[in-house]
Amino acid sequence: MQGEGENSETAANARAFSGRDLSKIYITGETEVHALRGVDFDIRKGEVLVLLGPSGSGKSTWLNIVGGLDRPTSGTLHYEDNELTALDDRDLTRFRRAQIGFIFQFYNLIPSLTAEENVRLVTDIAEDPMDPADALGLVGLAERRHHFPAQLSGGEQQRVAVARAIAKQPGVLLCDEPTGALDSSTGVRVLETLDTANRELDTTLLIITHNAGIAAMADRVFHFLDGKIARIENNTHRISPSEITW
Ligand code: ADP
Repeated sequence: MQGEGENSETAANARAFSGRDLSKIYITGETEVHALRGVDFDIRKGEVLVLLGPSGSGKSTWLNIVGGLDRPTSGTLHYEDNELTALDDRDLTRFRRAQIGFIFQFYNLIPSLTAEENVRLVTDIAEDPMDPADALGLVGLAERRHHFPAQLSGGEQQRVAVARAIAKQPGVLLCDEPTGALDSSTGVRVLETLDTANRELDTTLLIITHNAGIAAMADRVFHFLDGKIARIENNTHRISPSEITW
């Protein structure tokens, strides 16, 4: 364990999350599914993590728990110095709203609102948001900000979704198959925007993907298998998303 005191850690290795013996059992009727079986992990602030593993291995369950959308059946989870597993529902929601940005495979933009208005929906209720135009600038869409989703390509819509997620300046971006609906060159542009958020805003990135090629842009790769993190791979060099193809 790293020291917990403010002065005993440099910003470079400060804790984002730590999980100890996290388990999740889903009970449907008489059936129990052990989706997570005693998982331990530490994630540093500003780290880029890619989660790989077969379908049903527990990745989404893990991501939902880490993002405060769900709770483990047992075990403890901390974000920085806060024990998330000790929070009541209201405080867990507050944590999620303040600290977590979500990006899913499908962009979930509101069709009747422009790109900027979609981002503004989030910044209007956030505590310390970026200007929506700046967030769209960061993903390379400053000039398209008055366009409606239907006037944008799939990749551009996903970049609006990234702008929307980063505009509230969350500590963490959780991405579940962010390039799943995109071709390689369009997907790479989306990954570049995530990489930019990580480098410029120090946002911790947790990315679920079926695409093993994406693992090369991570600091570390968690390989899930049968409800466990079966293996953790350290990348000595992160490569730029522009060097990834699939
Ligand atoms: P992955 O994201 O790796 O595909 P999941 O975390 O979605 O894996 O699923 C892990 C296991 O938990 C699977 O067996 C899945 O069927 C089960 N599971 C996930 N969500 C639920 C749920 N809400 N109710 C019951 N079982 C679930």
